[in-house]
Amino acid sequence: MHDLGIEMHELIRDLYPICRSLTGNGVRKTLKILQQQIPITIHEVPSGTPVFDWVVPNEWNIRDAYVTNSKGERVIDFQRSNLHVVSYSVPVKERVSLSQLKGHLFTLPDRPEWIPYRTSYYNETWGFCLSHKQFMELKDEAYDVCIDASLEPGHLTFGEYYIKGQSDQEVLISTHICHPSLCNDNLSGVALSTFLAKYLSQFSLRYSYRFLFVPGTIGSIAWLSLKESRIIKIKHGLVIAGVGDSGKSTYKRSRQGNAEIDTVVIHVLKHSGQDFEVLDFTPYGYDERQYCSPGFNLPVGCLSRTPYGRYPEYHTSADDLSFVQPEHLADSFQNCLSVINVLENNRTYVNQQPKCEPQLGRRGLYRAIGGSGDGATAQMAMLWVLNFSDGNHSLLDIAERAGLEFGVLKTAAHALEEHGLLKEVSPSTHSKQPKKTPRRSRKMGRRKRVS
Ligand SMILES: [Zn+2]
Repeated sequence: MHDLGIEMHELIRDLYPICRSLTGNGVRKTLKILQQQIPITIHEVPSGTPVFDWVVPNEWNIRDAYVTNSKGERVIDFQRSNLHVVSYSVPVKERVSLSQLKGHLFTLPDRPEWIPYRTSYYNETWGFCLSHKQFMELKDEAYDVCIDASLEPGHLTFGEYYIKGQSDQEVLISTHICHPSLCNDNLSGVALSTFLAKYLSQFSLRYSYRFLFVPGTIGSIAWLSLKESRIIKIKHGLVIAGVGDSGKSTYKRSRQGNAEIDTVVIHVLKHSGQDFEVLDFTPYGYDERQYCSPGFNLPVGCLSRTPYGRYPEYHTSADDLSFVQPEHLADSFQNCLSVINVLENNRTYVNQQPKCEPQLGRRGLYRAIGGSGDGATAQMAMLWVLNFSDGNHSLLDIAERAGLEFGVLKTAAHALEEHGLLKEVSPSTHSKQPKKTPRRSRKMGRRKRVS
């Protein structure tokens, strides 16, 4: 897992210098780099396309931007940091006084070394962001301002990668790709989603998985609008955002609040051995706002570490390559993988010997699982599974009730199934899939701890 953390961090390093925005070549370049890892399909939606109550905006591209003083020196230079330009600034080339310039400048007086990140997506204006220290050094003189950008009809670009499973029911993993040189928000999510997709693509899976790399808000709205007929296939979903900082894991529940994904993520965090926080749904945040809008109300939660806005580095130049660390990326990856492991294996069984306890010893079942760790816990897990496998309790329901980790119950259930004591129920929602756990997806469980 440590190596994977380093690989994710290296991908973030490669993507960091690119100037991404809602639209434009930065997003395309980012997706092309991701295609070196996974075969993402790149979609282009024309500007002006109506998507529910919104319209796909004009495409923004930037080549250069600067402010020069009377000596011709670049006192603010886009080439040094793409955060210096307010994203979606309209092109400008003019000479202005200091007071005129100040009306277009943004700083963080309480963090004088940091450059803020600002956008002006839906209001045509221009602006520069700079450290307050730089700002204080500006002299009262004339400045030449240049933003060599274009804002004209083009496309909104997003990426999609679909892994076909045995069932056409889907798990949606969505992450936003519209931020420039910022690492936790949200190159961490881009890197984690990419490596998670790459990892999962090796296995035969129960669910199909759809990975979305979309610009925030308008990207998910466009996707929901264009793919509305497919939405019914989504059974579980996660928005992945801000997963590389040193804070504890945070899970924001779906609007439904008690969907299977909510129970699964909270179960995984509870058994991760680390501190975590669970937040109720609010209609603010990342793209879960769109997936959980009342017209869809999809079971989509949001997994992050420190929530957005709760760390001072958020939306500033301090959200840099040192703010995200391989170990935290790896830890978040492990949690996502554990969530998928539970989703893939959360099945409902019926006890085939329900009248009194079956004799486990005669079938060698104590021995079968006794050697794999804590024998007493394993035995207890078998008793829980046998007692509550009445067709109405999933393995996760039983795990929660027993206070045991899902994996222990999964192992117990597999052993009981192999000895004919359990039979899986095929719920109508899963009617298209084979009854038996496929060998290869079990393998995923065994390989849970990759390194
Ligand atoms: Zn953001």
